[in-house]
Amino acid sequence: MPVVAQETTAAPKLSAPTITIAVDASEAPRKIFHAQMAIPASPGALTLYYPKWIPGEHGPTGPIQDLAGLKFTANGQTLKWRRDLLDGWTIHVEVPAGASVVNASLDFISPTGEEGIYTAAASATEKMTVLSWNTVLLYPAGYTSDELTYQASMRLPQGWKFGTPLPIASQSGAEINFKPASLTTLVDSPVIAGEYLRVVPLSENPRQEMDIAADSAGDLDAPQEVLDHYKTLTDQALKLFGAQHFRDYHFIYSLSDHVAHFGLEHHESNDSRSSERSLVDEDKRLLASGLLSHEYVHSWNGKYRRPADLSTPDYEKPMQDDLLWVYEGLTSYLGDVLGARSGLRTADQFRDTLASIAARLDHVPGRTWRNLQDTADGVPSMQTASNQWESWRRTVDYYDEDVLNWLWVDTIIRQQTHGQKSMDDFCHLFHGGQSWPPEVKPYTFEDVVNTLNQVAPYDWRGFWTERLTNHGPGAPLTGIEGSGWRLVYDEIPSELIKVRKHEYKEINAEYSIGLLLEESGNIVDTVEGMPAAKAGIGPGMKVTAVNGRRFSAEVLSDALKAGKNSSDPIELLVENTEYYKTYKLDYHGGEQYPHLVRNESKPDVLTEIIKAR
Ligand SMILES: [Zn+2]
Repeated sequence: MPVVAQETTAAPKLSAPTITIAVDASEAPRKIFHAQMAIPASPGALTLYYPKWIPGEHGPTGPIQDLAGLKFTANGQTLKWRRDLLDGWTIHVEVPAGASVVNASLDFISPTGEEGIYTAAASATEKMTVLSWNTVLLYPAGYTSDELTYQASMRLPQGWKFGTPLPIASQSGAEINFKPASLTTLVDSPVIAGEYLRVVPLSENPRQEMDIAADSAGDLDAPQEVLDHYKTLTDQALKLFGAQHFRDYHFIYSLSDHVAHFGLEHHESNDSRSSERSLVDEDKRLLASGLLSHEYVHSWNGKYRRPADLSTPDYEKPMQDDLLWVYEGLTSYLGDVLGARSGLRTADQFRDTLASIAARLDHVPGRTWRNLQDTADGVPSMQTASNQWESWRRTVDYYDEDVLNWLWVDTIIRQQTHGQKSMDDFCHLFHGGQSWPPEVKPYTFEDVVNTLNQVAPYDWRGFWTERLTNHGPGAPLTGIEGSGWRLVYDEIPSELIKVRKHEYKEINAEYSIGLLLEESGNIVDTVEGMPAAKAGIGPGMKVTAVNGRRFSAEVLSDALKAGKNSSDPIELLVENTEYYKTYKLDYHGGEQYPHLVRNESKPDVLTEIIKAR
């Protein structure tokens, strides 16, 4: 059923207005964006919304606190306005007699530092910015985002270049005029701009390219081999899905240590942001190696196919996140698989990533009180939770745990069909169809189950119901085991764990004594039921010494190793709210780092899964 996301209403509607918006981004390095809008209106009450529920952000994250300088005029007269008392994103304006247009001016103050999440977080530096249109506009109540047309223009700082999927009408120096677009398309089409911007063509017909902006020219000097992996990614994705649902596609990639790091999917682009040297430094490249493939998969899984209750008519109606185990979980699985098929990760790196995911999820005592379904249901109200107590609170596990679950599904399909079918067949059925233009085809739990049954008859309803509601114990490892591999622990950290330690200054003792620490000794998390927690240690405390010596990663590592051949407990001197206490951990298991090893008694299905098509 080819469908558009919108709900239809029976009552006839006045034709939707065309709104003009001019954004002045010439002060982007000051982190302030000015916008002027002309909104057709009639005398009386006008209700305007600032976008609240931002697609892909899974919550009411529109940065209303950073909307400033708001002023309305009509026929040269300043208008009264008032914020709605029940919804801070809603603005009521009094339109005087004789007025047919309301002019709005507003500023978006882009945050610096750690404030905000996703597009509401730091988005501008001295040398580059990403403009998310939802941060600089208002829209009138009474229309869907598909019905409203925006005529947009933008002014950049002098000398900056830009990239965007939004079709361009004309350009003159720093001024860009875009073709009229629906509000849906506008919000779906960010603009990346900067002094140092490199366009890397990936494919023609349809045109696919990377638009990379960085804080210095040297950051853009990626090895050709790396860029070739992204070309391969576009080819492997088309082979996986069988169709493309965009007119053209832009990987909008920010390389800066001064913008927030995340990825946000769009239909015809992704807004991915990583540390400054992510393309040129091998370690940083490994840490960012899963980002773009994940966001790219979303064009099919999340944008084209979207949970029905996430397919909302505007940005005011709340979104419901119960199907994120498909929207995000399947995207994470396919993103990892495509990354390996494209060479963005080696087979070893793919398995190390899978081992890290499996080990973390195998140490989530929070699953005893909170099932996987609730990690999705709770997102709108919980996604800003701290990473302290993460193993007990649970985090957004529908990403990683559903990598394990969808791998399990892949192995079941292969078993049931004696190797004739796989998740690739599911993707062709579910995400394929006719190529472009962009459309939204909503789905429900039933549609997922039915498509799985079309590929391989099985009790998929029972499978997913159990997966989403069980309380463990332990992670779902059946997919890894069914693919011919086993999760094991030994004393040798993987390349991935070594790089994380080096780059994130993170010390992983989660699978030995149940401690995740910063390099300083600050405790990020303790795993309930493991030696540190049982001894009385908790998140927010700080380890200052180990066995009488000042704390460092090496001192802790030495003590864990020495404990294997000693009956003495490991002594941790811990500071807690200005008090010091010694905790004795009766632990003798040494360091524990996860790996996948082959189970030679079974065929190597995992290697088959990540083989390039
Ligand atoms: Zn995602």
